[in-house]
Amino acid sequence: MGDMDTSITQNNDVYKTLLESTKAIPWRIDWKTMRFSYIGPQIEKLLGWSPESWQTVNEWAERMHPEDQQWVVDFCVAQSKAGVDHEADYRAMTKDGHYVWIRDVVHVVRDEQGEVEALIGFMFDITERKETEQKLLDLQKELEELSFKDGLTGIPNRRMLDKVLEEEWMTAKRHQQPLSLLVMDIDFFKQYNDCYGHIQGDDCLKQVAQTLTSAATRSRDFFARFGGEEFVMLLPETDNPAAVKIAERCQQLMMKLQISHQQSEVSQLLTISIGIGTIVPGPHDQLVDFVEQVDQALYRAKESGRNCIKAA
Ligand code: GH3
Ligand code: MG
Ligand code: MG
Repeated sequence: MGDMDTSITQNNDVYKTLLESTKAIPWRIDWKTMRFSYIGPQIEKLLGWSPESWQTVNEWAERMHPEDQQWVVDFCVAQSKAGVDHEADYRAMTKDGHYVWIRDVVHVVRDEQGEVEALIGFMFDITERKETEQKLLDLQKELEELSFKDGLTGIPNRRMLDKVLEEEWMTAKRHQQPLSLLVMDIDFFKQYNDCYGHIQGDDCLKQVAQTLTSAATRSRDFFARFGGEEFVMLLPETDNPAAVKIAERCQQLMMKLQISHQQSEVSQLLTISIGIGTIVPGPHDQLVDFVEQVDQALYRAKESGRNCIKAA
């Protein structure tokens, strides 16, 4: 028996050394009194509060970020009452008022009658992991924004257009509402580049994009760069006469912008040609066909001398 006692004591020393030298911080709460019966000394290094200062669950709750307090306490109490092992991530407050992300992993200990006797757990410092997660989320968001935006002009790109076009087509079909589409193309833009250089050509595209964006006034009106020197305006719940008015407004805005184009054969200023189409999509109508028809209208505008509007 004496040998056994010694080995238990020795083992306890081993356990204690192991527990208090790992990065995970062990603790034990007596369920009846809701008081800490143990907390690893590592807690002081992580949060600044001495082990002796952790008296009851109140200290634990109070040393938590106000936004986390309510749900974490409610969650942990409910799980413990139900006798379910659980874990929670929250921000613990340090003694000097900073926050550290903690993952608390909790085991519920029951007595022989099956009553909850104590909670035993480990606290892990997961601040670094949380920061990495946040950085990843931020990056993902940035990437999403970038991939739907045209790099040169900053307006929505072809990818975004395809998405919105698909959605608005479905909505127009469902509600049997007219959907109008304007396809615009800058006239003699090759000559513009040849005459003024590619850099100024880029600058010109930016100005045109910014200006024409302002012609889309309703919240669901959508303007995008289709590619090259082509732009598209999508006008939900807009009939043909209203769409023609907006196309005319686009041409007026181009005149107001007054970008000189000496090599243009139709004007002294930079102009655009516009194809228009309006449809209330029926059950057999295809989106691609509609876009194709509007593209044909644009082609006819080019054929008839440019700087004009043609309807599909
Ligand atoms: P049209 O009146 O028939 O539309 O003639 P166009 O010269 O405008 O049309 P074309 O398709 O022959 O030429 C388009 C030009 O647009 C050629 C291309 O170099 C230029 N372009 C396309 N994308 C860009 C761009 O991102 N930046 C610049 N600077 N030029 C571009
Ligand atoms: Mg073109
Ligand atoms: Mg062109």
